[in-house]
Amino acid sequence: MRVGLYPGSFDPITNGHVDIIKRSLAVVDKLIVGIGISATKTPLFSLEQRMAMIDSEMGPIAKAVGAELSVISFEGLLVDVAQQNGASLIIRGLRTAADFEYEAQMTSMNRAMAPGIETVFLAASADVGFISSTLIRQIHAMGGDISPFVPKCVLDNI
Ligand code: ADP
Repeated sequence: MRVGLYPGSFDPITNGHVDIIKRSLAVVDKLIVGIGISATKTPLFSLEQRMAMIDSEMGPIAKAVGAELSVISFEGLLVDVAQQNGASLIIRGLRTAADFEYEAQMTSMNRAMAPGIETVFLAASADVGFISSTLIRQIHAMGGDISPFVPKCVLDNI
């Protein structure tokens, strides 16, 4: 059984994340979406809300394609979380060259620490590749319409 771990902050989940999750479900038998807990950041959505939104949005989609989906929160080293949860793949989305710069170094470090875990990059889809949770939070804070960029569960909770 091939298990993938897709980590992020998902504050909130966006159409870009939805795209990566859907496409990941085609390459793994089980996908674990891991929400990293950051003690320093004050999130827009609580951890519980973020977990529930991902679960409600993506659970039925995973079921429809016969894959398993679980949503967890985590603190600490990503490679430890992958190992503890039986994941052999870490999945990341790549939007820009800046994403790549950051991810390339992180991937090499993770491979040095845990050679058995492979990081897999999915190139962002053109129609959602410009979306980031940070921009969504900023647009929302300034009264803008975020509805084209996030799934309905986010609009229902905001
Ligand atoms: P963000 O960077 O939007 O705040 P996260 O930290 O939750 O979001 O990102 C988790 C993962 O999802 C990262 O690998 C990131 O590159 C990827 N990702 C985020 N937004 C998109 C998008 N629009 N298209 C493809 N991948 C994305």
